[in-house]
Amino acid sequence: MHCETGHRGALPTLRYLQTYGVWPGMARNVREYLAECLKCAANRCGPPHTRFKVTETPNQPFRRVGVDLIGPLPLSALGHHYQHRYVLTAVCHLMGWAEAVPISDKQAATVWDAME
Ligand SMILES: [Zn+2]
Repeated sequence: MHCETGHRGALPTLRYLQTYGVWPGMARNVREYLAECLKCAANRCGPPHTRFKVTETPNQPFRRVGVDLIGPLPLSALGHHYQHRYVLTAVCHLMGWAEAVPISDKQAATVWDAME
């Protein structure tokens, strides 16, 4: 039923369903059903439903560093010499200093070596 409305949200889905019948708690059931719909979640606009967590600012550089991996990425023209498909990124939470290191894979040992 929800697909027939083009994943358009709670009210259009509710109105569409009401052409077939009504039951107690119907609006709540529709909202709960839509909250679980993966297609709606993939296309949902606006802020995420989880709030940002306020964290404590570290008092020294590099005391807290945010680390992430980007990839797998396509190889560059020279990539066949290096096979770097991932980039390890690190950002100091105090200064915002950022580092990016190309790495071949995302194995723990590879990431550990790149962080040294
Ligand atoms: Zn949907």
